[in-house]
Amino acid sequence: MNGTGATGGLRIEVLTIFPELLERYLASSILGRAQSAGFASVLVHDLRDEGLGVHRSVDDAPFGGGAGMVLAPGPVFSMVERVAPPRPLYLLSPGGRRFDQAMAEELAGAPFSLLCGRYEGVDQRISDHLVDGELSIGDYVLAGGELAALVVIEAVLRLVPGVLGNGDSAGDDSFTTGLLEYPQYTRPARFRDYDVPDVLRGGNHAEIARWRHAAALARTLERRPDLIAARGGLSGSEARLLLEHGYPVPAVEASRANPGAAPGDAASEERDLP
Ligand code: SAH
Repeated sequence: MNGTGATGGLRIEVLTIFPELLERYLASSILGRAQSAGFASVLVHDLRDEGLGVHRSVDDAPFGGGAGMVLAPGPVFSMVERVAPPRPLYLLSPGGRRFDQAMAEELAGAPFSLLCGRYEGVDQRISDHLVDGELSIGDYVLAGGELAALVVIEAVLRLVPGVLGNGDSAGDDSFTTGLLEYPQYTRPARFRDYDVPDVLRGGNHAEIARWRHAAALARTLERRPDLIAARGGLSGSEARLLLEHGYPVPAVEASRANPGAAPGDAASEERDLP
């Protein structure tokens, strides 16, 4: 039923009318390796196995009229009752809880299942009486839940310890730290006229860590000030770090860089520099 034959690790099951759309991707790259190395096993079930009639039909016209078709409750309930996928079972839905990095971390800890909608959506009774919750990957509408399921699975599996080659690779990622990630560079040190920042080539690991922290803060302030606000603003030491590296600091934060000017908020002062 799945494309990989793997059985160990974090168990995830997916219910869809397009298993082949998922299986190719699930068998490739990091997700394929995660399964063959025993860190995860992803099983994909074909809802059409429970479809009705010669056409194995899974959809029907909406009561009350309107465009499109609706995924019918019968085949979905039957499949869930027959295969008993691990709970919680989440319906992918634009109206669901917004999936984010914190939720990916939460899901990485225990088995779960995903139900992919199609057409105009699913019969409300599936949502009310069968699933445990609904997940959205963002404020836009896809044609089906399959891409959303892959987004969730990939974000979750790369957090399972051992899945990424280097155990630390996920630690500095955007959002994991509450900040966007610092800029990364590889060779050559000079490409066309563009140089890699000197500090990264100097081999002073403490300086590199400080530069990266400053660059991550500056980038997050510029692009996603909401993330900075969500963690309670900048601490005084962070504001000082930014100033030291020549980055602009918003006025209200800059006052914290000067210990005399405003009392530092205890919670944010705890975020010490590396
Ligand atoms: N008519 C529905 C959209 C149906 S889209 C509405 O307006 O809410 C068809 C299916 O695609 C959905 O049942 C859901 O499973 C999936 N889907 C679409 N957009 C999604 C999103 N942003 N996140 C998660 N799943 C989504």
